[in-house]
Amino acid sequence: MNEIFHLQQNIEFTTAKTILEYSYLLSAVFFVVGLKLQNKPDTARRGNLWAAAGMFLASLMTILLQTDDQGHGIRNLGYIFLSIGAASVIGALIARKVKMTAMPQLVSFFNATGGLASALISFMGFFETSLSQKGTILVSLLGVLVGAVAFSGSMIAYGKLEGKVGDIRSGIMRYVNMLLLLISVAFIVFLMMVTTHSVTVTWLMFGFLFIALLYGVLFVMPIGGADMPVVISLLNAFTGIAAAFTGFLYANYMMILGGILVGAAGTILTIVMCNAMNRSLLNVIVGAFGGSSGVQGSEGGVIKEIQPSDAAVLMAYSSKVTVVPGYGLAVSQAQHTVHELEKLLESKGVTVKYAIHPVAGRMPGHMNVLLAEADVDYSKLVEMDDINPEMEQTDVVVVIGANDVVNPAAVNVPGSPIYGMPIIRADQSKNIIVMKRGMGKGYAGIENPLFFLDQTRMLFGNAKDSLQKLIEEVKSL
Ligand code: NDP
Repeated sequence: MNEIFHLQQNIEFTTAKTILEYSYLLSAVFFVVGLKLQNKPDTARRGNLWAAAGMFLASLMTILLQTDDQGHGIRNLGYIFLSIGAASVIGALIARKVKMTAMPQLVSFFNATGGLASALISFMGFFETSLSQKGTILVSLLGVLVGAVAFSGSMIAYGKLEGKVGDIRSGIMRYVNMLLLLISVAFIVFLMMVTTHSVTVTWLMFGFLFIALLYGVLFVMPIGGADMPVVISLLNAFTGIAAAFTGFLYANYMMILGGILVGAAGTILTIVMCNAMNRSLLNVIVGAFGGSSGVQGSEGGVIKEIQPSDAAVLMAYSSKVTVVPGYGLAVSQAQHTVHELEKLLESKGVTVKYAIHPVAGRMPGHMNVLLAEADVDYSKLVEMDDINPEMEQTDVVVVIGANDVVNPAAVNVPGSPIYGMPIIRADQSKNIIVMKRGMGKGYAGIENPLFFLDQTRMLFGNAKDSLQKLIEEVKSL
């Protein structure tokens, strides 16, 4: 009788394991389809849903079917569902309330929570693992290090994007950071050598966690200005890698796969951003590019204003108009209005294109997402390297809420903090109309000589209001 019971239990155990493995395979397919759809702005929303469905399936099946070696299922199901429920409500409320312009901060915050979760799971995993299993111990320690750096680094990035945390730029930071990294490695080597879990080892683990958190803070602190997008995607990659370590620790294929996908995507984005900005990763981490410390003196040139009526005439009688969207377009939520102006100008025979700089706005791909939301035809969005050769033949460049990404100081002023950063060469076009509220600086906090050029006219005001006035004027022509 007993044997039959055991056999039955064994069959149930094997069936549950098989179902779990198949559900992971299915989830992996969902992830890959999701990633593929995220390639294009118009299918990205669907891609997100596919990936979310994959994660939902994997999480649910893990909670219901995961067992330990003795065949015991996951305990505390009540607490698990309660915390998932509470977190989902909080997440949904935050996501609904947050403004589009605060989205990069939210992404950094979510990234931080992912890093923290991985660091904490790895931290607990260390105590649950026998110290003789050196491979697993190493994985748990790496999970703590990478997860903690992703957490505290992303929180600093969040503060910087909110404008609440400034840059600390001092040559000494480089050495402090190197020292902290060395101390972290020393902790890992030492903790790999201990043979029994003791109170001292517990304290050492807390010390290690603290150093890793501090390293995350001080690693991101000196990075600012045009390097922020690179560091944000790097931290994203860290979170993925930390999650993959956690997956190794508990032999959970889904976490390994999800972590590797995020880690790989983040790493590729980091490389793409570095290439787009003409920077090596090492330069970003130890160099000094952008940042508010590099405020330059006023250009001392003359600012020439233009009224909507004159700007409308200039644009409507041109053959080629190029819009350079920037952060201010997102702030004023003028994506639909600019699309309306574009259609109006095209109906009058003007060719309109959008010049997309890789770091315009406050998150990678910000302008693509913004313009896709307004249904702007994707073929009209032209990358910086492709649009720049056309600038000299462009009749009017309309800069809408962009500043750093069109700052010619990056090309002409060797001492400038953004010197070397590739820009959209608005300065080479025949006429330039700059739409912004006043003479406010951009994220890098420096003057922009573009505003003082002979062929530049400033159209002051909130971007959306100015665009609406322009539309009225073009209609009345
Ligand atoms: P900038 O931040 O350089 O400039 C934005 C300009 O928009 C400001 O000068 C401001 O001037 C104007 N503005 C603000 N609100 C409005 C409004 N309502 N209507 C009209 N104009 C407005 O933006 P860019 O897109 O040119 O450059 C992005 C910068 O952000 C780069 O330095 C980049 O490195 C950095 N960054 C980018 C990230 C990314 O991933 N893309 C992440 C983190 C940083 P005024 O106040 O006078 O109106």
